[in-house]
Amino acid sequence: MHVKLFIPGPTEVAGDVLEKMSEPMIGHRTKDASALQEEISLKLQKVMGTKNTIVLSTSSGSGLMEGAVRSFTKNRAAVFSIGAFGKRWHKMCTANGIAADLFESELGQPTTPEMLEEALSTGKYDLITITQNETSTGVANPMKALSEVYKKYPDVIVCVDTVSSMAGDLIPVDDLGIDVCITSTQKCLGLPPGMAIASVSDKAIAKAETVENRGLYFDYLELVKFVKEKPYQYPSTPSLSHMFALDYQLDKILAEGVEARYDRHCRMAKIVRDWAKENCELYSNPDYLSVTVTCITNTTGIPFADINKAMTARGYAISNGYGPLKDKTFRIAHMADMTEDDIREVLKVLDEVLAELKR
Ligand SMILES: *Cc1c(COP(=O)(O)O)cnc(C)c1O
Repeated sequence: MHVKLFIPGPTEVAGDVLEKMSEPMIGHRTKDASALQEEISLKLQKVMGTKNTIVLSTSSGSGLMEGAVRSFTKNRAAVFSIGAFGKRWHKMCTANGIAADLFESELGQPTTPEMLEEALSTGKYDLITITQNETSTGVANPMKALSEVYKKYPDVIVCVDTVSSMAGDLIPVDDLGIDVCITSTQKCLGLPPGMAIASVSDKAIAKAETVENRGLYFDYLELVKFVKEKPYQYPSTPSLSHMFALDYQLDKILAEGVEARYDRHCRMAKIVRDWAKENCELYSNPDYLSVTVTCITNTTGIPFADINKAMTARGYAISNGYGPLKDKTFRIAHMADMTEDDIREVLKVLDEVLAELKR
């Protein structure tokens, strides 16, 4: 039995998109491979609202996150964390010997403009990282307000994790002045896991030229060089299967429309939030709720493991809490190509499961 995924990645992949993964291989140094990568890049620029250079990586998003702090930090990084994925960025810094300070918000709360201002005004930092959508707490950061602060510090490289939100939430990269915006295929883009994407500003590229020891596989300068000079090639052998499927899926995303896709995510989010308010509690600050994943405090008195087992037996997967919230919360993803009907369906099954377990 296929278990339908309502977890925050990987998400369900449409059959026609999956089929594209099985297209015959082409040589990765051919004109066809370049044309494919160029097509993908142009489409991604539209989805992401950017004129910046698009790089692809055959890795999950974490690879490009690690590569970003390594390629663009010369002095010291300020990591703004609102949960598990923010903290991971700090671990990546320390694991690579990059000087970094962690600025943590209370779980369920966003990064505030005041926190940014306080850190950046010290002049100590030349790179910041922000988690636009924290998948562990279901919080979306107020990017517009944050951008008004970091735009006052044009020498600082702004790296943003949009792994669980790009192509779900509306994230106009250039309007927000994001230098390095990173996402993965297996979340809102609705593709299998295995490829990561980043947009890179010219300012960031110029910065990387001044940084030593950028590593090799995730060196952004190397990735950019192969896009700009070759052009549209990948330094090693990319997952061409992902590229076939990504090219196809981006057409579908653009046909739906980036704003229409966002509206659909908002409507799906509202259905889940309403269910949570009626049946449990929303975990996070209600003013900063993610439109792609909802984190729900488990007030049912039933351990999530039992709920999960009964859901899976019926063919539906929702997610436990993450990290310190593992037993306290559970999460329902409403991202990628799901519809409002899919969301109503999983909630109906959840109602049945809870009624049965309460008996
Ligand atoms: C899933 C996720 C990651 C990790 O991405 P991978 O593609 O699994 O490496 C990072 N940040 C956020 C916010 C995520 O949801």
